[in-house]
Order: sequence, then C-alpha cells, then structure tokens
Amino acid sequence: MILQLRQNISHEEAAQLAVANQAAFFQENGAYIFVLSAAVKSVPAALEAYADKSWITDSDIQLASKQYRNEVREVKWGKTIVGGNSGNTVMIAGPCSVESEEQLELTASLLKELNITNMRAGAFKPRTSPYTFQGLGIDGLKLLAKMRDKYGFSIVTEVRDATNVEAIIEYADIIQIGAKSMYDHGILKRCGKTQKPVLLKRGFGATLQEFVQCAEFVLSGGNPNVMLCERGIRTFETKTRFTLDLCGVSYLKEYTNLPLILDPSHAMGYAYGVADLSRACVAMGIDGLLVEVHPEPKKALSDASQQLTYNQFRQLMQTLQPIANAVGRQMV
Ligand code: PEP
Ligand code: MN
Repeated sequence: MILQLRQNISHEEAAQLAVANQAAFFQENGAYIFVLSAAVKSVPAALEAYADKSWITDSDIQLASKQYRNEVREVKWGKTIVGGNSGNTVMIAGPCSVESEEQLELTASLLKELNITNMRAGAFKPRTSPYTFQGLGIDGLKLLAKMRDKYGFSIVTEVRDATNVEAIIEYADIIQIGAKSMYDHGILKRCGKTQKPVLLKRGFGATLQEFVQCAEFVLSGGNPNVMLCERGIRTFETKTRFTLDLCGVSYLKEYTNLPLILDPSHAMGYAYGVADLSRACVAMGIDGLLVEVHPEPKKALSDASQQLTYNQFRQLMQTLQPIANAVGRQMV
C-alpha cells in the first residue's frame, strides 16, 4: 500500500512513523510518501491520522504500477524528454566500450550527422571473463565527459559496482545499471538518492516481477527518474545470444508507469539481426532504443559480433521514423 501523508509533517515525525510501520519513505512535491508491503490492504490505524491519500496495490510492484500512476512517468535529461505525453522514441547509440578518444570522436561525428544527442559507451565493463578488456575506467569516463562538453551530447554509461557509483553519478547524464548488476542493492539504493535518470537493465535470469521490484528500490529511495531496459533473457536457445522478450515489453507497458528502452544489440548478439529487431522494437511503441555501433566492429574490444557498422546504422536510422510515426510516435 502507498500512502501520501499530510503536508505539515516534519521529517523527524515521518522518519519515526516509517520505522514504526516498516515503511520505505521519501518526499515528493512537499509530501511524504510511505510505501508499506502490498499485503497491507487498508490504512493502518497508527497512520490514519496522517494519511491524505492511499493506493492499494496487487503486488510489490507499487510505485512503478499503473495502480499508483496511470500515466507513463516523464523523464528528462539534456535535450531529451521521454514518457509523459512526449510521444518520443529516443535513440541512444554508440560503441559497447570506450576504447580511445579517436574512437569517441568518430562516434561523435556519426551521431552529429544523424542528429542523435545521446551517446552510449561503457567505461567500467563487467565482463564475463577476467581475461578480456575490462574498460578504461575513470579515464574512459573523462573521455565521455570531453564529448559531452565539446558536442553537447548526453552520456549514458554503466556503473559496474559500488566502487564506481559516485564517479558514474558525477560524469553520466543517465546511469546505466547493467543486466549483471540488476540485483546490486548498493547500486540501487545509491541511485535512489540522486535525481539523475537511471536506466535499469533486466537481469537475463530475472522474471518481470523481480525486474520491476529492483526498480522499486530506486523509486522508493526518492528518485522518480527510472527507465526499464529489456535486453534479452536466457532461454534454451543458443543460436542467438539471448531472447528479446517482446511479450514482457507488452506486460511492462500494460502494468507499469516507467518508460521503456529496448536494447536489441545485446539480445541478438549478432549484427545481422539488430536492424530487424530494432524495427520490431520501435513498432511496439516504446520510449527508446539502445543500439551498439562501432567505427570498425571487427576490431572492437568488447561485443565485436553485435555492433553495427556506420553504414548499417545509417540505413537502419532511415527506416525507423516511418515505423515510429505509424504507432503515433516520433524518433528523436
Ligand atoms: C552494455 O550495455 O554494453 C552491456 C554490458 O549490457 P548488459 O548489461 O545488457 O549486458
Ligand atoms: Mn555491449
């Protein structure tokens, strides 16, 4: 159950009430919001005198639920707005990893040519093997910041663990929490204490319920700017890297109020399928797309097989706008 308390309650009083009632709490538009277990179906007697409004929810998908807010939340950063009434499907593109300044300059020239304002690239890479490229770390973040300052891009980059969460909050415009970190409560809770937009990727073995409950950790910390990212789940299939769960996307659209960004690159794992999947994603009426593109994919230090060449990416971009328009949206 979610409660909105009356406006005249002090922080101290709210904190005491929260502890006594086992509630997560945060302040929004001047009022304290309390979130109790979804098993609570009526306002507890101890909170009756304080509650202004209440919402009953079916499960611990609460702040993210349509039962709490029927409209998709609006999330804004830099020159971009998604969700709300914007009708925007935002393109977020760039290489898997930051490899060099030259590589990011080449990425910048492609994005500028195509009027794309959101650059993605990982500086801290949570790799499957310790014997592969682990990312440039803080030097990579500084290169991304250079692109932001020089060209006005917004930067989407991944936090790997609790040791780099502060640096990512400082340098990124959108904090990407990767599939392998979806359950990192240190990261989730810290991200609840900033107002920076968070792009939370679905763990490849996580159910939709588990995925959205991880988003609840960020929302219940007081950060309303959370976007969900479907990037493929593990199934019995081995011919593709993962399986993009478009049924899950329909579920998330129907039952949650969080903007949805889809990542066909990591789902497919092979460049040949990324353009078709991207078109299928845009046809789902989504808030954004995250696509990996590299100046020389064959030489990429991570995810070489799935990154598009510049020409493949240019061709893809030409086909997306009409599909977005056909479902009442525009690509931005
Ligand atoms: C990435 O975006 O480069 C990445 C590592 O993605 P994921 O967390 O989905 O594997
Ligand atoms: Mn990648």
